[in-house]
Order: sequence, then C-alpha cells, then structure tokens
Amino acid sequence: MRSYFSQLSPHLYVHHGHVNTGILRDEDRALLIDPSGEIPHTTLVELGITGIDQILFTHHHRDNTAGFPRENKTRVGVPAKEAPWFREVETFWNDPQYRWHLYNYHPHNLMLANGIFVTDTYTEGERFEWGPAALTVLETPGHTDGSVTYLIDVDGERFAFSGDLIYDEGQLWDIYSLQKGQQTSDYHGFLGARDELTESLEKVRRVSPTALIPTHGVVMSNPERAIDALLQQLAHCYDKYVAISALRHYFPKLFVEFEERAGHMPIREGKSPPEFLRHFGTTWLIISESGEAFVMDCGSPNVIKHIQQLQAGGDLRHSLQASITTLEVTQFWVTHYHDDHVDAIPEFQTTFPCETITDSVVARVITNPIGFRLPCISPSVTRVDRITHDGDSWEWNEFTMTAYHFPGQTYYHGGLLVEGRGVRMFFAGDSFTMAGIDDYCSGNRNLLGKNVGYEKCLRLIQELKPTHIFNCHVDLAFDFTDAEMQCMLDTLAEREKCYTELFPWDHANYGMDEHWVRCYPYEQEVVLGETGHLRVEITNHSSEPRTAIAQPILPSSWNMELSPQETTIPALSDGHIDFSLPIPSRLDASGKRIVVPVDITYDGRSLGQFREAIFVLTGAGLTQFRQ
Ligand SMILES: [Zn+2]
Ligand SMILES: [Zn+2]
Repeated sequence: MRSYFSQLSPHLYVHHGHVNTGILRDEDRALLIDPSGEIPHTTLVELGITGIDQILFTHHHRDNTAGFPRENKTRVGVPAKEAPWFREVETFWNDPQYRWHLYNYHPHNLMLANGIFVTDTYTEGERFEWGPAALTVLETPGHTDGSVTYLIDVDGERFAFSGDLIYDEGQLWDIYSLQKGQQTSDYHGFLGARDELTESLEKVRRVSPTALIPTHGVVMSNPERAIDALLQQLAHCYDKYVAISALRHYFPKLFVEFEERAGHMPIREGKSPPEFLRHFGTTWLIISESGEAFVMDCGSPNVIKHIQQLQAGGDLRHSLQASITTLEVTQFWVTHYHDDHVDAIPEFQTTFPCETITDSVVARVITNPIGFRLPCISPSVTRVDRITHDGDSWEWNEFTMTAYHFPGQTYYHGGLLVEGRGVRMFFAGDSFTMAGIDDYCSGNRNLLGKNVGYEKCLRLIQELKPTHIFNCHVDLAFDFTDAEMQCMLDTLAEREKCYTELFPWDHANYGMDEHWVRCYPYEQEVVLGETGHLRVEITNHSSEPRTAIAQPILPSSWNMELSPQETTIPALSDGHIDFSLPIPSRLDASGKRIVVPVDITYDGRSLGQFREAIFVLTGAGLTQFRQ
C-alpha cells in the first residue's frame, strides 16, 4: 500500500489517508492525532517509528477514529465531553431515542460501532508535554458538540489540529454535521451550529497557529485567510438559505435580523380554504357532494376522533348541503413518511377500512420504516393498497386527483393535485409555507440542481398553476405570484453555486445530502445460520459517471471478511452494490444489535467507515448460547 505523508517540522508529520493523521515523533516513538485505518502503519514503518505512546482524537466520528490497531500500553485521549461516545457507544445503538422520532442529531451520525478503551479525557486549556512538544487543548465545538483542537508547540512553531472545523480555505467537509437547534429542536436548525463554529474558528485564530491541519482536508499555511474565507462563504450560504425559507413563517423571531433584506422573498398572505375542506392536526379532509371523505395523513389518534365527530353530525349539516347526512371515508392519501403524518395510520386503517394510496417513493419508507434511518421517522408500519407514480390520475367523486413524486420537504414525499368544483388545489404536504420552501433539515435530502428537489417541485407548480396550495401544518391556503416563483428558482440556482463552492466536491449535494450513501435495509432481523442481504445505495450527484467501492466490516468475532465490491454509477443517478452475509450459526452475541460499518471509496477517494447497517440477531443458536 502506498504511503503518503508530508513533513511540517523536524518532529511533526502528517499522513494523508482518508483523513489526515498527525504524527509527532520522538526518535522511534510517536504520538498520533486522529489515526484511522491501517494505512498510517506504512508511513510509520517508513519513518522508522516502532512504538506508539499516545493517540489523541479530535472528535468521536467513526471516520477518524475507527480501525487503528491499538497497542497495549498506548494512551488514548479524547475530548471529555465526548468520552461516553468512545467508551460506551453501545448505549447509543441500543437507545430507541436515537433510532425513532429523530428530531435531535447530537451526538450525530458516524458513531463508533463498538466502544474503545480511553485513558485520558481533555477539557479546555489542558496542557501537557510529550517528547519535544508542548500540547494545549482548545474546546472547539461546531462540527460536533465536543470537538477539540490540539495545539502543538514544537520546533519553534505552533500547529493546530483543528478536527473538522474547516476543510480548506473557505470550505467545509459537510454541512449536515452543523444541523443544530438554537431555540428549536435540531430538526429545524439548518446550519444551526454556525455561531459555535464561528466562535471556535475565532478562538483558533487568536492563538496564531502557523498552520491548520484539518482531519478532512488540506493543510492550511495561512490560517487567517482560510478562516476569513470560510466565515464569508458561510454567511453568504446562510443568507441564500434564509431568503426563501419556509421557517420564517413558523419561527419569525429567529430571523428578525434578516427582515426586508435585499433578495429575500416577502412573506405571502394566506387565503381561506374552500368550504368542503376540513383541517385538523396535520390532516386535510375533502368532503364530496355525495358525502364521501378523502383523508390525507394521520399523525395522531385525535384525527380519528375528529373524523368520528364529523360523522356524528358535527358541523356538516350547517356548512354543507343539507343532503349530506353521513360521511364515509373512502380514500386515504399519505403525503410523506414523517411521524407527525403517519404515527396513527395503523389505528386509522382499522377504524376506517378504505383504500390507502401513496407515491412509490413514500411507500418504500412507510411500508418498511425499519429499513431507514431518517429525520422524524416513525416505527408505525403503513399498509399501502395502491402505489402511484408521477402523473397517475384517477377520479374520486366530482374531483380529479393527480399524484406526483414531490421531493420537497423530504425526498420521500408526494404531492396531490385535486381539480374540481372550480378550483385547482395542490396538497404539497409540508413542502411550502407562505414564506417559501421547507428545507431546514439536511437529513431530509433536499437536493439542489435541475429537475431534482425543490427545482422539480417549483417547475411542477409553475406547470400546474394551482389556485390553492396547502400545507399540512397551516390552516390557510396560499399561492405564489410568478415573481415569487422566479425568486425561489433563482435563489436555488444561486444556492447550488455557493454551496458547491463551500464543499470539496464537484457538487453541493455531496456536502448537503447526508444520505447520498446509505444502507438498505438500514436495520434488519437476521436468523443465525441463514444469509443476510445488504444493499449499499449510492447517489451519484456528479454530471459524470462515478465509481464506488463498498465493503461491510463484519464483527471480528464472526471470523470472516467480505471482499470489497465495485460499481460504476451513471451521471446524476442512483447505483447500488449488493452483499450477501452468511450469518454464523452460533455467536457470542453480547447484545443482539450488531452494527456493521461500511467502508466506502468514491471516485478514488477513500471515505473510511462512512455508513453503517444494523443487524438484529434472532434464532436458535443465539438462544442456545444464552442458556
Ligand atoms: Zn467528523
Ligand atoms: Zn414533514
């Protein structure tokens, strides 16, 4: 294996693997920062280093911590605030709060598969000597809550190992790690850690390092300029986000400083919905002239009660034709997979036996939620009777319904055009408010680019020209002027440009779409002695074909290795690699949930243990072992 390293000073080196590993040497002994994978070994051999005294980790992410073989006496130091995520990471994998109804993302993804032994924990300002160097710890949160920077004073210079605070001049490794709530849950906090990140960068700037060495990225010899460029780029990117954000409708106080900024879309007034609609919870309900009901979404048992009250007479006779005396639920549409739209669907389906219809992309998630780990995911399993594809149309009483894949608020989202009684209503799920588009959670996969994400949604709205747009959380209907539609499209195009500049990728989506590489199923039950199946799905966001290599890393106790598999994915499309996993028939399965990290190489670039899948063991061998 080729080793590739550079020398920063007589005693300090950096190995450039899938991450940068700092190598501080004292004769044939070394202290390593963020060693990950086996590759640093070749560099160590080349440098004549025979022993490792100490390892320091900047933060808990698996892609910079996993896989380095530790010697018996090696000290392992981690940020004190993240120590549990190194030592007792099993609590994360076994706690349902980190599996379902995901609204908070701290600790974030990329947790170690198994806990590691830690000897030292570090807090702000701690200093220690090692060999020829003096080390200082700075707490520098942002990329993760507990990230630290290690300052190394050696050979008359000062080097800052700054974790993933900054990738290169004006660049970040990803944006989804910065998803963090300020006055809200993390779910609503797009780029919410930017203030923390800014403070941390300023803190690093104040100690005047000679160079910044990022975990992911390029060694920066002009830290001042690199930091300025990033702060400027971030401010620009955030401005383009706020300009058309739906969140301004829900949380206006968060955006006071942005009011009436140039280029920001004004917030539209709503209008009254037609009289044959009802709205409760996240549910919209259409009542036909014949007294049938078309229901959309069921996030809570209250929705069922509301419908039963309507059926019991309620306000029906007052507001609608006197001829309607009963109300029969005949069709049910699911807009998207979020828990506040699907949690009570099983109860709804038992109470109102009717046809359940949804888009094919939504159906994939709601019929098998265990296969996914996505924001706001619900464990409720929905029975789907009819799957729609883009443009499928049907008649329901006096209305014509047309279904669309509508990758707005989330990629796994549908839209429904309902025409009849003189109106064209578009049920956009959670995708718009009067303030704009609803893309405040990077985990929702809001892709940028032509004919994907909101660009696709807005073009569809332009083509369909609905008289009313509906959001599941908003009582009023609304529409957009041509100028507002154009403002949203123009801002999206500007975002594609400035976010592409923000990341070291050829398209913004790699830094924004947390799920561009994903395991399917994310979680599955496997029977001991049988064969499990795992598909690694990869979205190629580039406008050229790309090669991807995947290799699931099985637990060492299984005594088997899977060979890496490769695939070439055409431009702007999804590809996948399938693996068969022979599950051992008898296992020392302490804890039945097995985390299998997947090592990814994309376009020749190693990403380390970039994703994971979960296997829940069942079967006789396990029971036998437990007895
Ligand atoms: Zn990281
Ligand atoms: Zn939603």
